[in-house]
Amino acid sequence: MQFASLGSGSRGNATLVEAGSTLVMVDCGFSCRETERRMQRLGRSPAQLAAVLVTHEHGDHIRGVRVLARKYDLPVWLSNGTGQMLQDNDLPDVRMLDGYSRFSLGDLEIHPYTVPHDAREPCQFVFGDGSHRLGMLTDTGRITAHIRDCLDACDALLLECNHDADMLANGPYPASLKQRVGGPLGHLSNGQAGELLERIDTSHLQHVVAAHLSEKNNRPELAREALAASLACAPDWIGIAGQDDGCDWRVIS
Ligand SMILES: [Zn+2]
Ligand SMILES: [Zn+2]
Repeated sequence: MQFASLGSGSRGNATLVEAGSTLVMVDCGFSCRETERRMQRLGRSPAQLAAVLVTHEHGDHIRGVRVLARKYDLPVWLSNGTGQMLQDNDLPDVRMLDGYSRFSLGDLEIHPYTVPHDAREPCQFVFGDGSHRLGMLTDTGRITAHIRDCLDACDALLLECNHDADMLANGPYPASLKQRVGGPLGHLSNGQAGELLERIDTSHLQHVVAAHLSEKNNRPELAREALAASLACAPDWIGIAGQDDGCDWRVIS
């Protein structure tokens, strides 16, 4: 199994996960043309996708879903609540998922799980290929016991490090937005992400990639330091999924 990020942050998110001959995309927050360009960078084309999975209806996750799905005739998996928010979206092939039922797509096992975030029915995913597990977590305001259970003992994690709490507090956002981002239905701070790592089994981890970093309220080195401190590893070992560059393929073996 392997994964790569096309880009991550408030201006757009999309992640590729591949096992055997099955390739899926999680979220598509970039225009269709930009998505094609970024996939080409990773040696893939949207025509190879088995499906697009949508975590929730915020623009940075769905901006390109409709055009991409229509152009390439792709099934789009989403929760009922997310689907209701996209009613006018005219998708060619909608498949419903829920936050408690696992399913398979080709060589991938997909385990959706619920998270607290200010969207209608948001979910995140753990992927498996029969021998390894990749956990993805962005767009959550806090860590729940359920999240810890789902991400326990994964072999790789793509983990939100949205903001540094001090930078957010002293940064340029208006008070209401600071409250939303830092609140229990907002986004995960570097510190909260680090605390998660301290409270789950991390002994199998081959990769940790920090994602959804705020360009105004965080810096890659702060995210790296926070996660490295929790894992007692070198900061360089922590990957970053950047807004412009995403991150290259990471193989879990
Ligand atoms: Zn987001
Ligand atoms: Zn969101």
